[in-house]
Amino acid sequence: MAGAAVLSATHDLKTGVAAATRRRPLFDAHIHYNAEIAAILRPDAAIERLRDAGIVRAIVSSTPDHLTLDAYAAAPDLVIPFLRPYRSHADRGGWITNRDVLAEVERRLDKAPYRGIGEFHINPLAPQGSILPRLVQLAGERRLWILAHVSAPVIEQIYALDADARVIWAHAGGLVETAETVAAHMARYPQLVIELSLRSGLVEGGGVAPVWLGIFEMARGRVLLGTDTWINSRWDELMGEADDARRWLATLPPALADEIAVENGRRLFG
Ligand SMILES: [Zn+2]
Ligand SMILES: [Zn+2]
Repeated sequence: MAGAAVLSATHDLKTGVAAATRRRPLFDAHIHYNAEIAAILRPDAAIERLRDAGIVRAIVSSTPDHLTLDAYAAAPDLVIPFLRPYRSHADRGGWITNRDVLAEVERRLDKAPYRGIGEFHINPLAPQGSILPRLVQLAGERRLWILAHVSAPVIEQIYALDADARVIWAHAGGLVETAETVAAHMARYPQLVIELSLRSGLVEGGGVAPVWLGIFEMARGRVLLGTDTWINSRWDELMGEADDARRWLATLPPALADEIAVENGRRLFG
């Protein structure tokens, strides 16, 4: 009896902790289910990690891409599949001028109900003769989003190719741009969406830095959270990252916090 009571108390405690950390559901725009994590975490276990962190919807892309479809099959209610152009990590370097990569993207597009293409990297600019124009065209034809880890000039290249392109700027500045540059681009391109994974300077003294608060207010409806599980250790940090986000979200006006936490993602992706 005593053992059962202890077990029951432990269970209640665990349930209570889980309930507390789930208190604000989150939309995560930047999850990878890459081969390295798939080797040790089956799709249902990976999905469980996301749900444990209170993530209710997630944009998932993976190297290689078929792993995204495994995650999608495990949780079509949670996973929003994006087609990643990389067949292996080696593609990350020269993919943008590689016609074989383009052929593979075109071949895969009908394999699943993809909602976007990416995450991909272009630095510093897409060169002459690159496959970017065709990718932007494909995305436009199919009303797909583009998740782009790029510099500000590449955002300009994409909108020059298609003024109506649906672009999510990964890391809210591609890990290279200042907040001021991001603000200028958000003002210049009224459809541009940012996701906040690994964004430096975002949090200041426990709250959101003034420059970012200004961007959030100016770009209502166009800001998403993101974690970026680009290496396995990031999967162990999911819960902590989610709680960190909940902490700074709690310092925002409630409506703005709800939008960034989950509502913007739901409105854009259903
Ligand atoms: Zn990235
Ligand atoms: Zn990433």
